[in-house]
Amino acid sequence: MITAKTLKLSLKSLREYAKKRLPDEKLIELDEKDECPLDVVHDLCSPDKVGITLLFVPEEYGGMGGNTFDVYCVCEEMARIDLGVATSVLATFLGSDPITVGATPEQKKLWLSKIAEQGVLFAYGATEPEAGSDLGALRTIADRVIEDGKIVGYKISGNKQWISNGGIADAYTVLANTPAGPSWFILDKGLKGFTHDKPEDKHGIRLSNTAALALDNVFVPVDRLVGGVEGQGLLQAQAVFGYTRLMVAAFGLGAGWSAIDRAIPYSTKRIAAGAPLSEKQGYVHKLIVPNVVRLEAARAYIEETAERIDAGEGSLNTEGAIAKYMATEAGNAAAEASIQALGGYGYTHEYMVEKISRDVRITIIYEGTSEIMEMTISRDRWQNHLKTRGQHYHDQARKFEELHARHPEVGADNAALALHALAEVLEKARAGRLTRFQHILLRLGELIAYAESAGSLARRAALMADNKLNEKSNRRFDAPTFAAISRIFSRQAALKVAQDGIQWVVGAGGAADAELPAFEASLGFPAIRRAQAGLVADMDLVADALYGRTAKEQKAAA
Ligand SMILES: Cc1cc2nc3c(=O)[nH]c(=O)nc-3n(C[C@H](O)[C@H](O)[C@H](O)COP(=O)(O)OP(=O)(O)OC[C@H]3O[C@@H](n4cnc5c(N)ncnc54)[C@H](O)[C@@H]3O)c2cc1C
Repeated sequence: MITAKTLKLSLKSLREYAKKRLPDEKLIELDEKDECPLDVVHDLCSPDKVGITLLFVPEEYGGMGGNTFDVYCVCEEMARIDLGVATSVLATFLGSDPITVGATPEQKKLWLSKIAEQGVLFAYGATEPEAGSDLGALRTIADRVIEDGKIVGYKISGNKQWISNGGIADAYTVLANTPAGPSWFILDKGLKGFTHDKPEDKHGIRLSNTAALALDNVFVPVDRLVGGVEGQGLLQAQAVFGYTRLMVAAFGLGAGWSAIDRAIPYSTKRIAAGAPLSEKQGYVHKLIVPNVVRLEAARAYIEETAERIDAGEGSLNTEGAIAKYMATEAGNAAAEASIQALGGYGYTHEYMVEKISRDVRITIIYEGTSEIMEMTISRDRWQNHLKTRGQHYHDQARKFEELHARHPEVGADNAALALHALAEVLEKARAGRLTRFQHILLRLGELIAYAESAGSLARRAALMADNKLNEKSNRRFDAPTFAAISRIFSRQAALKVAQDGIQWVVGAGGAADAELPAFEASLGFPAIRRAQAGLVADMDLVADALYGRTAKEQKAAA
């Protein structure tokens, strides 16, 4: 168990190391050269150097036994430094995940101790040239090698595509089809018949090594089959999705914030029409505040999900998908807006936001694309809607109405409006059998993610007001500002669910002309419109907090 103090120290040493070894000029140089800084990656993973990877390894295997919340904090911090380097470190944990969840005690001891004691770098080999989102299309084969009637090993043949650390790892976990189905195998580098291609020339995360793998009859002894039982591979991969998607969610969050944290100081120095950009409301309320709000909504969902995983609520795959979807889309939007916020400078390499924008793009592709996240979210919550005869989100909404009675300042009333509207949209989709249109199914996934995130944010704003937030939680904002952030997001979520909901239901033929007024009324439009009152004042409040403007300064500026 890691204390808040230890976590803080670890994050600090990570920051200090990065400041020394990866200043902006070095990052720009490596990005231009398309080069992975192997020495840095090794330092981060070596127990006698930074050893940040120790946080991820259970104590019984020589690590520090960080929980999901600690891992989210580390991932966010690493992403703020460089997403390519962060990906290298993450790949070791993706690579060892099948071992953590599915290996025999002997395999765990051997391999997890190697990570903790020797800083061994792993790669995770699932994707293939023709099997990405659809891993069921896997073609890599593991044939049994039988001697005296006993399985003594496997011969693996096939190709893996886009493997992070593919060209630099010491060990690999590779998914291959055995006669009993997909299974994970642990391979050392350099085995006969096991080769990797040259690094890919990528759009972003150019500091991360990504390479294709080729396996030509590679022999591994039977003790390299993870868990010792064939056919468990997809289950083992799924068992950690909640957790691994949270890691990538934290990447989106960290990268998005690192871009905004460049735009904010820039805007205080750049003078336009006689005053800094930071004092132009049209600039700040378009380019800065909405992105901060979106990032913090995603953070709320990440933190809640991490706490629930740590409390033993299971792997929470759908929640992991919502966290990833919201945080990585928010990170991309924030980086894009930061380029705009820096104008022409933002468009050059030197000012870094352009690099962050290229880097963060990967987070909506790997560990499940945004479209696959939308599908995952929608399919799961659709079942909840059906099982409860349409009451799932109405029930949740009622909880937020109660929260609003206790904490009228945190936007819980708006979250309730979003959730009630969502329940009505889902019900209309059920009645019209609209999920037969894949587009509708995926768009519902987006609306679900927004409405649930509004709920998370309101809950956390209330916890903060009660001084009951996890002591490891991010404390960038005080309770009143956090409540304003929550009110802004929940207004937006309610409007989005009702507006997009009506668009997709009517668009897919789910509401005839005669039914439309009743459907519109069920969505609560008048209340949602009224809830927009106070939006601009809340944006002013958040802007003042971001720029550290006191009440006195605001008065003086006015
Ligand atoms: C830099 C980088 C690093 C990576 N690292 C690793 C790694 O370490 N290990 C590893 O195993 N993999 C890794 N990957 C692979 C990554 O996880 C896959 O690229 C990703 O899952 C998408 O698969 P794909 O590229 O085959 O795209 P596809 O699955 O072909 O998807 C293409 C497009 O179609 C959409 N799509 C796919 N299926 C559907 C559907 N059913 N309905 C609607 N739309 C759909 C997708 O959302 C996407 O927009 C990495 C990829 C990159 C680029």
